[in-house]
Amino acid sequence: MKKVALVGSTGSIGRQVLNVIERHGDEFSLAAIVAHSSVKELEAQVEKFSPAYAALTDGEAAKTFSNKSKTAFFGGSDGGLRAIEECGADVIFVACGGFEGLKYSLKAAELGVVLALANKESLVCGGGLLMKKARRLVPVDSEHSALWQCLNFDKKAPFSRLIITASGGAFRGRRWEELSGVTPDLATAHPTWKMGAKITVDSATLLNKGFEVMEAHHLYGAPYEKIVAVIHPQSIVHSMVEFADGACLAQLSRPNMELPIQLALTYPQRLYTGLEPLDFSRGFSLDFSPLERGNYPMFDLALDCGKAGGILPTALNAASEVADGAFLKGAIPFTDIYTVCKEVVEKTENGEAESFARLAETDARSRALAQTVVKELTC
Ligand code: NDP
Ligand code: MG
Repeated sequence: MKKVALVGSTGSIGRQVLNVIERHGDEFSLAAIVAHSSVKELEAQVEKFSPAYAALTDGEAAKTFSNKSKTAFFGGSDGGLRAIEECGADVIFVACGGFEGLKYSLKAAELGVVLALANKESLVCGGGLLMKKARRLVPVDSEHSALWQCLNFDKKAPFSRLIITASGGAFRGRRWEELSGVTPDLATAHPTWKMGAKITVDSATLLNKGFEVMEAHHLYGAPYEKIVAVIHPQSIVHSMVEFADGACLAQLSRPNMELPIQLALTYPQRLYTGLEPLDFSRGFSLDFSPLERGNYPMFDLALDCGKAGGILPTALNAASEVADGAFLKGAIPFTDIYTVCKEVVEKTENGEAESFARLAETDARSRALAQTVVKELTC
């Protein structure tokens, strides 16, 4: 039985990890769960799964946690790290959002256990550091799981190109200039996937696709010129790998994160997911069109930062966390997400991403700068 520690258990991915654990209760046990401030939901999860450890990283929320079980509970900013360190898990599933995820990913690498990685910011911000340290990293993001499946679960297998598919997000087919008046409700209504708010907004701006190109660059050691992003509105082909002989392998399934989540925990075995198979008896079409530079400023900015490397991707990520948050609160228009991110990137002097401390300092500085830009835009 595999012991799983789950960081971000109350989020969109985290809840689906718990579904998988429940579905295959004979394969997995839950060693630890960590969330930030969702007290009631964490209490319910503790009651249902009786993990050995649980933690809430928000100190105030932690004070209100009522523990009716034998689960050891830690509160406060280091509580999550303590829980995953002490629980003796075989797999640490990092499913929290944001730069915060990197510290858990580095901890999993240090402990030498399997790191099932949904938190894309770990690779976007700390890909260079993490890939040197994490020997047992398993991808969860659907595109990177698809690539991994096409590479026969071998992250070092040779290929000629990686082709990453993009649904196009909530505003597919519309020009950026037309989007200044779109509301948070519209931006968070993703056509094919149900996800947390931040990643849904990033799907609408296409920043998410830029981040996924960076993820692929780090995970598969791919130079940027060997990674192509294409618009595929149906979200059935989750990504493709092209090989030297001209063959192109694709992974197809209905859009549902439980498949890549479960595979990260069971590979090379494929177990029942409950996912409805594709219905070829009815016939359907799959469309692809190029994701061209020039139409999506956030995608272009992400690629420029990825290619520049160093601390710029961390600055961009921090700016996007602040800008997306401001947009979701109705403080700035959708298109100003780009204004904020661009200004923060332009004001950041690039340098080596040599340590976690350097990245954390960049993250904090870029957030503060982004907040100043948001303030200027709103007064
Ligand atoms: P959500 O916003 O739905 O969930 C975030 C989770 O992280 C919550 O459980 C939250 O707890 C927890 N959390 C927040 N801060 C901390 C912290 N400091 N320490 C520990 N836990 C914390 O996000 P998603 O599930 O949508 O996304 C999670 C990650 O997976 C992101 O990096 C995203 O890009 C990536 N991803 C998501 C996909 C999806 O389908 N959702 C697909 C592919 C990748 P609380 O509830 O208490 O705030
Ligand atoms: Mg994805």
